[in-house]
Amino acid sequence: MAEPDVIVVGGGIGGLTCAAFLARQGLEVLLLERDDRLGGLARSVKVGDRLIPANWARSEGFYEDDPKVRILEHLGVLSRLAPEATGTVCEVRSDDGLRVVVPAGPEPACDALVEAFPEEERRLRRVFTTLARLTLEVERLGDDTRSAVLRVLGFPLFYPTLFRHRGRTAAEYLDSAVRLPRARAVLAALGPAYGSSPTDHGFTAWGLSITAALRRPVRLPGGGRRLAQLLGEVLRERGTVRTRTPVTGVLTDGRRLLGVRTADEELRARVVVLNVPARVAFGSLVPREAVHAGYLQRIAQLRPSASACVLLLAVRAPRAALDARADYLVFPPGDDLAAHARALDEESVAGRPLTAALHGPEAGADEVTLVTATVPDRLARWAALDPDARAALAVETRATLLARLAPLLPDLERRLEADRLLTPLDLAEWSGDPDGSLFGWEPTPEQSGSRRLEARTPVDGLLLAGAWTQPGAGYGGTLLSGFLTGLQAAMHLGRRVRM
Ligand SMILES: Cc1cc2nc3c(=O)[nH]c(=O)nc-3n(C[C@H](O)[C@H](O)[C@H](O)COP(=O)(O)OP(=O)(O)OC[C@H]3O[C@@H](n4cnc5c(N)ncnc54)[C@H](O)[C@@H]3O)c2cc1C
Repeated sequence: MAEPDVIVVGGGIGGLTCAAFLARQGLEVLLLERDDRLGGLARSVKVGDRLIPANWARSEGFYEDDPKVRILEHLGVLSRLAPEATGTVCEVRSDDGLRVVVPAGPEPACDALVEAFPEEERRLRRVFTTLARLTLEVERLGDDTRSAVLRVLGFPLFYPTLFRHRGRTAAEYLDSAVRLPRARAVLAALGPAYGSSPTDHGFTAWGLSITAALRRPVRLPGGGRRLAQLLGEVLRERGTVRTRTPVTGVLTDGRRLLGVRTADEELRARVVVLNVPARVAFGSLVPREAVHAGYLQRIAQLRPSASACVLLLAVRAPRAALDARADYLVFPPGDDLAAHARALDEESVAGRPLTAALHGPEAGADEVTLVTATVPDRLARWAALDPDARAALAVETRATLLARLAPLLPDLERRLEADRLLTPLDLAEWSGDPDGSLFGWEPTPEQSGSRRLEARTPVDGLLLAGAWTQPGAGYGGTLLSGFLTGLQAAMHLGRRVRM
């Protein structure tokens, strides 16, 4: 290959989207992935004879006009991905028997919560109104034509919900909006349970992901792996992919980008997109002298999201035999919202928020249900142990998770065909992030939205894409990030974009 226009480093969803988009725009694109497969964190794992998604295979949104839908359509991936709308967002279950099934759609979801907590009706309806207003304001903010001055001066007037709740966490908002702790816990469980706890999660990020999930929850058949696979196919039609090719450095001439270095060669390009974890990018790949100290200091101050333990199960039982009213279950750790963060500091996974995703049976395996159960965790806890202690912690973690999943099927353990526990060390291996973070930077108010890293870096021509940049993590966030970075790369090269 002659000198490519763009080199993309890392084949996660963000890097793949960016590279596939640019290749379809007619640019010469080279994607370098350190692992032997593409997908990064979005992958499935062979457990016994079964391929089990190591993720919940869920994505919020996918409604008409959703940017994800437009991007996937443009790349020719949407019809083959065939996201399936689900009738429920989730089932929230407590250890003492409360079960709330949350249907799709803001109004039915609100009604379901009101039915569970009739004494909170007025407050719950107000919460849903606030969430709807928040989404409207953010959408309006995107294409608002008022002059910039008016927008700044009149911000509280034009965007009252955003203004009123700016800087607040989900827990602060819920504490002020709802009286019953149990109702607060169920509402909190509608937002992402991982990477962050309600006491740290920014209200805006939390609220937007809830409304997106309520609007049209979908399941991705084949999980994130299928999405990565399809993006990889589009890319390979017109671009070049090299796996097992770790990039060891970014080449610069002072502040000017030259290309990248691998173990075997130096490759030149006018634009380089880094889809690698930001701390790796600016810790070991980009020369320190190429970036001003303020930028490095900012990265050093950002806090990564939590990692996770994931138990993958192939259960010899048809889906209908499992006592679950939705395919996505959330078991919050009690009613105290602060308990989420505290539980992460405890050794046992018994008190941590647990989610379980039930995947449709594979073709020809309708007597087997695949389950992905996840609890947050920290990599440091596992990395500090010697191999024997690590093995013992894995045995204990597996047993605790199986006990917590027992209500789904009384003889669950006896019906196990195969299972495997993934730890934060596995997730670190998949993404290259030293903490095995699940969602890039933790989505606190200080690290969300426009406060997340931008695609542009201080090095001209060096761009970022993926979970560590705007707008955020998850398939939706990284797809959007990859696309927006692709647009910037095309602009940098003076190319007109055809859509
Ligand atoms: C257990 C689990 C469940 C999840 N479930 C969901 C879900 O249901 N829905 C959802 O929306 N999101 C989910 N997510 C989050 C989602 O998977 C991630 O946010 C998303 O896949 C991250 O994509 P990314 O582009 O940031 O790249 P990453 O996945 O982090 O990939 C980075 C890539 O860069 C490569 N790389 C690193 N260093 C180098 C180097 N030096 N040279 C070359 N290549 C390099 C890595 O090998 C990797 O392939 C889940 C995540 C986990 C772990």
